[in-house]
This record gives sequence, structure tokens and C-alpha cells, in this order.
Amino acid sequence: MLGMSALKCHICGFANRFGVLTPTCPQCGTDLSGTVPEAVLRTAPATLCADDETSHGRLYLTSLRLLWIRDLAEGAGTAYALGGLIGFLAHRAVNNGSLNRMILNVKLQNIQSIRMGAGRGLAIASRSGALSTVIVRKRDEWAAAIQQAASSLL
Ligand SMILES: [Zn+2]
Repeated sequence: MLGMSALKCHICGFANRFGVLTPTCPQCGTDLSGTVPEAVLRTAPATLCADDETSHGRLYLTSLRLLWIRDLAEGAGTAYALGGLIGFLAHRAVNNGSLNRMILNVKLQNIQSIRMGAGRGLAIASRSGALSTVIVRKRDEWAAAIQQAASSLL
């Protein structure tokens, strides 16, 4: 519905416990106003590899984007919920420091290439030059699904 905001993100499931309406999801940036249709096409637990670090989280392929969101660390839930109290502050909290759970947020049209990386990884190169490797089960299916979703935007 136009002009309506949601208390729960339909993409990542983030729920605003304080009942404060925000135009975008504080966690994944999804437009919650309903003016930009976006649906989850595929999601699965996935490990993100960056530099020497690996983090556990969840990969989302939506009709518009590829997202990876880190699993909530023990004890971070309360701080994160407070971050959702005010959208503006939440955005700041999400975008810097220890509450940053969203490492990968790339629009499908900005994906340059997807290929099988080292080990069981899926290497995702963006047009900006960023390279991310995620380890996810059935990576062949993921690669095909991402390419299909991207091509359906054209
Ligand atoms: Zn979200």
C-alpha cells in the first residue's frame, strides 16, 4: 500500500520491536513503503569470506538485490533493537561500528560476474570492483538463480 510502512521487513525479517515506522529497513535497507516491489527469491545460511575473516550469516537473493546479513552476535540483540528505535539512528548504527551486520548489499544490475571461487566459494564481483566470496550450499543453483534474476531485470 502506498504511504504505508511496515513494522516487519518482508525481506530480512527484521522486526521493529518499538513499533516505530521507518521508510526503509534499518537492517537491510529494503524500502518498506511498498512503492518498490521486492521479493525474496532464495535464502540460505552462508559464510562470507573477507580478507582472513569468515563470518556466519544468511544470504538473500531478492528480485532486486543480493544481500548477506551477519548472524546476530550473542548479546547484541538488545542494542540492535534499540538501534531500531529511531530510523535515523538505526541507519547510523547499521552503517558503522560493531552493529554492522550487513556486509553485502548489491543491486543485481551492479553484479559484474559470478563464478566458482576457491574451495566451495561463490565469487561475486560488483561493477564497483568489490569482490565478495560466499560459501553456500548448492552454489551452482545460486549462481544460476542470481543470473536469472539479474537478466529478468533487463
Ligand atoms: Zn530488512
